[in-house]
Amino acid sequence: MKICVFGAGYVGLVAAACFAESGNTVVAVDVDQAKIEGLKQGIIPIYEPGLKELVLRNQAEGRLSFTTDVPLAVKSSLINFIAVGTPPGEDGSADLQYVLAVAREIGRNMESFKIVVDKSTVPVGTADKVRAALQEELDKRGTSLEFDVVSNPEFLKEGAAIEDFMKPDRVVIGTDNVRTAELMKELYEPFMRKHNRLIVMDIRSAEMTKYAANAMLATRISFMNQVALLCERMGADVAAVREGIGSDSRIGYDFLFPGPGYGGSCFPKDVKALIRTAEENDYDFLLLKAVEEVNERQKQVLSHKVQQTLGDTSKDRPLAGCTVACWGLSFKPRTDDMREAPAITIIENLLAQGATVRAHDPEALAEAKKQFGDRITYSTNQYDILADADVLVIITDWNEYRNPDFDRIKAELKEPFIIDGRNLYKLSRMRDYGFRYLPLGRNGIA
Ligand code: NAD
Repeated sequence: MKICVFGAGYVGLVAAACFAESGNTVVAVDVDQAKIEGLKQGIIPIYEPGLKELVLRNQAEGRLSFTTDVPLAVKSSLINFIAVGTPPGEDGSADLQYVLAVAREIGRNMESFKIVVDKSTVPVGTADKVRAALQEELDKRGTSLEFDVVSNPEFLKEGAAIEDFMKPDRVVIGTDNVRTAELMKELYEPFMRKHNRLIVMDIRSAEMTKYAANAMLATRISFMNQVALLCERMGADVAAVREGIGSDSRIGYDFLFPGPGYGGSCFPKDVKALIRTAEENDYDFLLLKAVEEVNERQKQVLSHKVQQTLGDTSKDRPLAGCTVACWGLSFKPRTDDMREAPAITIIENLLAQGATVRAHDPEALAEAKKQFGDRITYSTNQYDILADADVLVIITDWNEYRNPDFDRIKAELKEPFIIDGRNLYKLSRMRDYGFRYLPLGRNGIA
């Protein structure tokens, strides 16, 4: 099939590469000229495991190309995917300007029947707006061409995006057109080898499914973060509680780890957008408001622990003179994405309280530099930042932090003290090494 994907970001680039890998001819379009020029030369703008190899192979075999030439891309493809950003507007609702701009571009340039597929996360009713924007452009041209609009929300996770796309838990297709549904089934068939995971439904339900999924996941995280904070106060161990509740098949083990709060480009904005959608429809989504509020508070927990243990509250800047070493900046492991990462709030809090902050991250240092500039120091070596620091704070659970050289950590730090926002280490081990150790939601070693 001939496919065009608008937006060569985390979703668009992965989708384009995966569709090309299954034999389709795919052209990815982006307004960011530098990104496209780089991609043409094999420079991948984001870090995502396996993506580089996939892009290079399909590019070399002539199935995947990159362009800023919209007319060419639209004319050469039957299926036009929209995978551009939908950031939160000022009132929290999803900003649809990029999605609608693409719809208009397609309307201005199409010369035959097109299937326009919305892969961006968009509120219920957006397919109608896409249809109207596109039709308006056709009307301006005085042309009557047919087209169909489909909702196909994306559920991939950054850090495992290729795997998720190639072996999806499900693919949701929102359409009321039987022929289009068949075509979309054909497109996704190569990704359904083991099980048929394709679910066809009406467009509005498909649009809602994406928000409901992210809202549910965010709810689990906020719920478990509150359970963890209560465990801490009661002398219970959140890890044991997770085992205990996860074994119930109605609950399951996933997404029940406490941490420094959810971040990333999706959960925060999608939770906000669903609250806003509800408001616009005279409905108070009380539960989600609490989920968001809990998350905002959770982002304060780690810096608060630093302040409680090392701070001098008689001073304006209680952490003046303290050096804090942070492991992990991206909002989760195996990505360089720092959008809405809890590390931002944590480090800003530490800096505001006068601390000197040093940071390590395997992939996100370039993104972090855009955020903090020279207000903090960085290293590509996780041990270098520890020298004479007062505490090591673990923010992101990268694999390389799971089994580190504890002797070296102890030797480098001023005092052996770890605040662990991801509960990576066994208490017995910390005790044997002689660390002062504060995890989340369980007794620590004071
Ligand atoms: P992104 O910011 O990484 O990429 C968006 C790209 O679109 C950018 O490269 C931008 O230059 C380009 N763009 C903007 N306007 C354009 C236009 N008119 N024509 C062509 N390109 C244009 O965004 P992303 O993280 O890939 O997210 C895209 C959508 O997918 C969002 O709605 C997001 O909510 C959703 N989503 C994201 C993820 C994720 O993990 N990142 C997962 C599922 C769904």
